[in-house]
Amino acid sequence: MFITLEGGEGSGKTTMIGELATILEEQGIPYITTREPGGIEIAEKIRAVILDPQHTAMDPRTEALLYAAARRQHLAEKVEPALAEGTFVICDRFIDSSLAYQGYARGLGIEEVLSINLFATQGRMPDITFYMDIEPRLGLARISATQGREVNRLDLEKLSFHEQVRQGYQQVAAMYPERIQVIDASGSKREVADIMKAQLLRGIE
Ligand code: C5P
Ligand code: MG
Repeated sequence: MFITLEGGEGSGKTTMIGELATILEEQGIPYITTREPGGIEIAEKIRAVILDPQHTAMDPRTEALLYAAARRQHLAEKVEPALAEGTFVICDRFIDSSLAYQGYARGLGIEEVLSINLFATQGRMPDITFYMDIEPRLGLARISATQGREVNRLDLEKLSFHEQVRQGYQQVAAMYPERIQVIDASGSKREVADIMKAQLLRGIE
């Protein structure tokens, strides 16, 4: 089973990956956790290019293609082999990030970005996606309170950009109501984890 986490900055994806991993551990289910962009050497290098705070001139289509390239390599090298042997994969971001960020917030169009991604993924979609929905103001405040977090190019975007990302995610969630579980990520770590646990257990039954 392929599980993905989605959400804007500071929505708690990385923290919740740990919680989901604990649940699978308790169930005795073999799994790996990974992230996008990145997760393997080639894709981590692409990540560094995309997110370099000095690359302010990056064209949105270049950005979309680089994310898709990183996704392809990560999928082929790590995700597909794990799924093929029955290992669950929990991934921090996947295709819906591109639809929300590049498709909607950068204005390239959700359908166009979907099409380059379907080329990259050969149609592989997650089985279940948790979308951590949070008001951007709150998410950004959480980030600035987190020490040691790497600074990236997206941190330089205005609040309005992050609001666009949220709207994008909400549209994408409406496109895939079966797959995408919308989680209110404004609660405490415990509250959010409990809601996700219930939904995950239902999903793997
Ligand atoms: O927080 P995380 O490790 O997921 O950081 C990845 C960065 O890449 C975030 O700032 C996110 O906004 C950005 N991103 C993006 N478009 C994507 C995927 C990630 O702008 N498709
Ligand atoms: Mg994170």
